[in-house]
Amino acid sequence: MNAEIPVLDVRQVTKVYGQGDATVHALRGVSLTVERGDYVAIMGASGSGKSTLMNILGCLDIPSTGRYHIDGTDVGRLDERQLAILRNQKIGFVFQAFNLIPRMSALANVELPLAYGGVKAGERRRRALAALDLVGLAERTRHDPNELSGGQQQRVAIARALATAPSLLLADEPTGNLDTASTLDVLGILDRLSLSGRTIVLITHEDDVAAHAKRVIRLVDGQIIEDRRQAAVDGPPPRHAEVTA
Ligand code: ADP
Ligand code: MG
Repeated sequence: MNAEIPVLDVRQVTKVYGQGDATVHALRGVSLTVERGDYVAIMGASGSGKSTLMNILGCLDIPSTGRYHIDGTDVGRLDERQLAILRNQKIGFVFQAFNLIPRMSALANVELPLAYGGVKAGERRRRALAALDLVGLAERTRHDPNELSGGQQQRVAIARALATAPSLLLADEPTGNLDTASTLDVLGILDRLSLSGRTIVLITHEDDVAAHAKRVIRLVDGQIIEDRRQAAVDGPPPRHAEVTA
């Protein structure tokens, strides 16, 4: 990690799906840089290209044209195996539907990306417990996902995303499946992570969620039409994590 190199550097990225009459220009020349410690909300109507951009930022897909560097690494030059390693090391994913593995404890779920990354058992446990503690779930490490509330499951997913100490936390509608109280819990955790210097990019439809970010990017028809900084709202003081348990 080099403080001067942006975490994300996207240059004139396009993404085209299909061909002939079925051609869809999902991204039409998107450029953006994200510096370390920024907290960015990406907004846009359905079909505007948010998921396509997320997949590219998350190294799950590659652009049709244009360049993308993450932490200085040119993603376009990597093969599938190298991309998988890059994803594991650099990116922590949080999804709307949590995507935890059923019948596996919270602890085991959080240890999983560390296991893929080749981290040894003792160190794995130590880091996973620290990540669960960070999201207020130190008391729930042995519970399976189906024994946890939606808000708790999403906090496990955030712990899982953080365990590898990624350069980027990438969250796709992380509060989309949560009730109001759990939404505030999760946003409070993201606020705290941002305060502690983490780099966060999240997709959201909701103004209330985007209000927590330091910067809002708006996509229309595969192009950025707005990219503005804002004073992040002071989220509610982080309530004790178990209040909504
Ligand atoms: P959003 O997440 O903002 O709803 P998407 O990135 O999913 O937008 O989609 C952008 C455009 O690309 C839409 O017109 C969508 O129909 C199209 N699209 C997305 N994925 C594919 C695909 N795999 N094949 C063909 N078209 C796609
Ligand atoms: Mg989408």
